[in-house]
Amino acid sequence: MKRKLSNQFLGNFLVIFLLTILATVLAFVLLSFASGLISDSLIKNRYPASTIIKEDYREIDVSPVVENGGGVQVVDKEYRVVYSRGLDTIGKDQLSAEEFTKLLTESKSKPYHYDILYQPQGEFWLIVTFPTSIRLDFSLVYNKAAPAGDFIRAGGVIAFAALSYLLIILLFAFIYSRVTAAGITVPLRKLCDGTRLLREGDYSARVDLRLKNEFAELQNTFNDMAARIEHEISLRKKSEEDRRRLILDISHDLKNPMSSIQGYAELLMKKSELTGQERDEYLEVILNNSKRANRLLTELFELSQPDSPEFSLKPVRTDICEYIRQICGELVSQLERAGFEYEFDILEESVFVLLDTDRFGRIMQNLADNAVRYNPPGTLVTVSLTTQNHQVVIDFSDNGTGIPAHLVDHIFKPFVRVDDSRNSKTGGSGLGLSIAKRIARAHGGDLTLCLTGDKGSTFRITIPMI
Ligand code: ADP
Repeated sequence: MKRKLSNQFLGNFLVIFLLTILATVLAFVLLSFASGLISDSLIKNRYPASTIIKEDYREIDVSPVVENGGGVQVVDKEYRVVYSRGLDTIGKDQLSAEEFTKLLTESKSKPYHYDILYQPQGEFWLIVTFPTSIRLDFSLVYNKAAPAGDFIRAGGVIAFAALSYLLIILLFAFIYSRVTAAGITVPLRKLCDGTRLLREGDYSARVDLRLKNEFAELQNTFNDMAARIEHEISLRKKSEEDRRRLILDISHDLKNPMSSIQGYAELLMKKSELTGQERDEYLEVILNNSKRANRLLTELFELSQPDSPEFSLKPVRTDICEYIRQICGELVSQLERAGFEYEFDILEESVFVLLDTDRFGRIMQNLADNAVRYNPPGTLVTVSLTTQNHQVVIDFSDNGTGIPAHLVDHIFKPFVRVDDSRNSKTGGSGLGLSIAKRIARAHGGDLTLCLTGDKGSTFRITIPMI
């Protein structure tokens, strides 16, 4: 790509340079044509020395020359200025032979037009002077009578100069084209490199052009795009990792009860000599394990429900204070049976929210089950309901064992348990809090674990007021 663009630039510049030369030549031709057109009207050509000269210089009528800003001088054979009228650029009465020769030969370089004519009878030179308006001297002089050797030498010099001129143009065009092309090819190459890296899977690739033109805009767009892709890919990787871990956890957690059911069922079939008591014990193991597997599958179903397109809440305008008071009343017997203490602090007035009471009840039940399951008797459970920033805040706390700080961010992920042994006595699946959080979110609120620093744990449910 670089080559092509650079060569294109080189070609363009060569054409421009050659067109410039052509335009310059044309300009000269036009100039000489135009100057031919106006030459008759120029004062210097209207009063040449030949038209006013007389044998006796005293008879010359100098008035038209003087009136038009010019001057007339007469120099005799002794180089004396014997007559002078009007404009006088000689400024002397007597010239030396050298000065007079200089006047004759160098008159072209002065800002005056000199027309010098010799009058043989009167033996004097008539000099008619006019100020030059603007003059451009450019002429090609050529004489066939010149010696052949001179022609070759002069022609060689001219050819050399022309060739050098063309070579210099070529060199300048080359350098200039490379420099200007670099302004485009360098950022383009960097952008291409970045795109290639992105294509090859390096999503951290960014481009730094240090420019402020349109390329900078392209660079920013590219970097934004790369950042987004990087973010999306990391999200996808994370969700892929979560999914993989979930499948692993599910199969792991299902494996134990299923193998147990299979093992005991086989024993029952094969061992005919089993006593009635042994048979009952085996059947109880089978029943417990099938219950466990069933519970796990039910919870998995509940967990996946909010993600399914068919899932919809059936929200009803509900007085949440009244509803939580009712739930707390239902929890009392469970807490008392477990030997727990309890305190409820619910707002007296009515606060309305949109609630799918069946599903919301699942959150409260799960928090109560956990409190009872993971804490010793004598633990105090507190439920409070307040309002903050147009939100209902329900804090469900206990002063029990608590959840380690490093798990605060993870405890709502499926299968995360404080005691991660799969054969835990408590038999929890680690899905309850994930399900509860999803239900809270489906209500437009959230379920979080507060870091209070106190003993025990505080789960906070928020739900928007209406
Ligand atoms: P599980 O089915 O295991 O109870 P959860 O998602 O409901 O799953 O809870 C995840 C883990 O959080 C539990 O295994 C337990 O270790 C811990 N946990 C939850 N609530 C409490 C609590 N009130 N006190 C102490 N630990 C708790």
